[in-house]
Amino acid sequence: MIPEDFTYFAPGSLPEVWDLLRQHPDDAKILAGGQSLIPLMKFRLATPAYLIDLRKVPGLDTLAERDGALVIGAMVREAATEHSQLIQRRYPGIHEASAVVADPLVRNFATIGGNIAHADPANDHPAMLLALRASVVAHGPNGQRTIPLDDFLVDTMETSLAPDEVLTEIHVPQPAPRSGSTYLKLERKVGDYAIAAVGVQITLDGDVCTQAGIGLTNVGPKAVRATQAEMFLTGKQPTEDVIREAARLAAAAAQPVSDLHGPEDYKRAMIRTLTARALREATQRARAGGVSA
Ligand SMILES: Cc1cc2nc3c(=O)[nH]c(=O)nc-3n(C[C@H](O)[C@H](O)[C@H](O)COP(=O)(O)OP(=O)(O)OC[C@H]3O[C@@H](n4cnc5c(N)ncnc54)[C@H](O)[C@@H]3O)c2cc1C
Repeated sequence: MIPEDFTYFAPGSLPEVWDLLRQHPDDAKILAGGQSLIPLMKFRLATPAYLIDLRKVPGLDTLAERDGALVIGAMVREAATEHSQLIQRRYPGIHEASAVVADPLVRNFATIGGNIAHADPANDHPAMLLALRASVVAHGPNGQRTIPLDDFLVDTMETSLAPDEVLTEIHVPQPAPRSGSTYLKLERKVGDYAIAAVGVQITLDGDVCTQAGIGLTNVGPKAVRATQAEMFLTGKQPTEDVIREAARLAAAAAQPVSDLHGPEDYKRAMIRTLTARALREATQRARAGGVSA
């Protein structure tokens, strides 16, 4: 329950962070809100000798629309995305994902950057952000690059960040008119990790779906994009029959494993049910006029 000894740094700039990462390539970890890393350290499942806290690094707390995208700084806390009027109005799926991460105490510390960088398939944001076709900005000593989230998430707790790179921003394309998003989560009790969850975004032209995004939580080694279901919906009116077939395809894309929370078949059935519900809700939101500027 007590972590191994470590040395703590709180640098005041990204170049200082990169210097520290270069000096300690094998045994340093970046610390954001600490809500995933510190528990791992307490269980001694992670034993970094150096912690590099990002909290004094300026410029990581943007939460605004810019150049056609919502920009979420890596250090924006879950509580901020949960309570932001901008997020609630224009990105309800992100609001709903933030609101079901753990409990208010955790959400006051936990960051959305940490939620993505931790790459735990049970984390709530990766699937919602896949559905929204988000990308992340990785900034290292040789410059910055933008990585689609599909390529950023490599495997369980593995990302494509280089050892000297810091995740600085998440970019979510601004939703087109008549778009609706939602995140639905099945949890054993409030505050738990998802048994299964689904993030959806639908864009309509008239009543035809022109773009669909579907991400699945905790039913694979990483957040899963339900590609076949997305393709099936595109170009069709989201009628009840179409939604049911898309939900069936999403369940087929899931790769759940049996565990204490339930057998594989149950989790696949839950993905089917949650996807159908999420598609109905997102379609209703899009039909109601979708997002407002
Ligand atoms: C009781 C409890 C319940 C929880 N329930 C949920 C839940 O229901 N849903 C959910 O999604 N999560 C849940 N979590 C996990 C946690 O809330 C998320 O993983 C959290 O968002 C992590 O963010 P953090 O800022 O605390 O990251 P940290 O713990 O500080 O870091 C996590 C990892 O990401 C790396 N990292 C962080 N930021 C960066 C960056 N900017 N660049 C590069 N690497 C970085 C760190 O080095 C570390 O490896 C729970 C945690 C607790 C303690």
